[in-house]
Amino acid sequence: MPGLAKTIKGLWSLIVGLGVTGVEFFRPQLTVHYPRKEVDNLATYRGHIDLVARDDDPLTPRCIVCRKCVAACPSGCIAIESRLVGAEPGGDARELSLAPGLIVTGSHAAPPPRQKIRREVAAFHLNYNLCSLCGLCVQTCPVQSLAFSREAYLCGSSRADFEFELLERLRRRAPAGGQRAA
Ligand code: SF4
Ligand code: SF4
Repeated sequence: MPGLAKTIKGLWSLIVGLGVTGVEFFRPQLTVHYPRKEVDNLATYRGHIDLVARDDDPLTPRCIVCRKCVAACPSGCIAIESRLVGAEPGGDARELSLAPGLIVTGSHAAPPPRQKIRREVAAFHLNYNLCSLCGLCVQTCPVQSLAFSREAYLCGSSRADFEFELLERLRRRAPAGGQRAA
């Protein structure tokens, strides 16, 4: 008798399981056959951070090099290289920090008057290996120059694959023929 009860219990469990499978079989499919297909409902997805371009110039980020995101990041993911506006890449690397009178390493001259200080991003490094996607950098940026990307399908085989230069990425995303604003 205990054997029969066990058999009936097992059959009932099978019927319940098949019922669940049957109901799910006729429900709309939410998953896709990756990598043959990819989902397209990524509007609220938080991928790694990306630079946002100026409205009038798809090749230039809104960034004003205040470095608040660098200070806000709890994981030390962000490093920014900057230069004076108009300076050639690799040329005079002199640049100014936010604090009046301070000059970064490599600078030899006294800073110009503050009203003449204009810096631009030379490189914007993100070490995504360290990022916790906390969003503090995005929240902190005073000019909305950072946003979460929709990169849901990143993959790589080494840490170096997740070290990004966001200025390069922004320029690769820019529409063909994009011009830098004067
Ligand atoms: S999301 Fe958080 S951890 Fe990632 S770069 Fe921004 S501040 Fe750093
Ligand atoms: S907080 Fe915004 S404006 Fe300031 S350095 Fe970071 S990205 Fe640039």
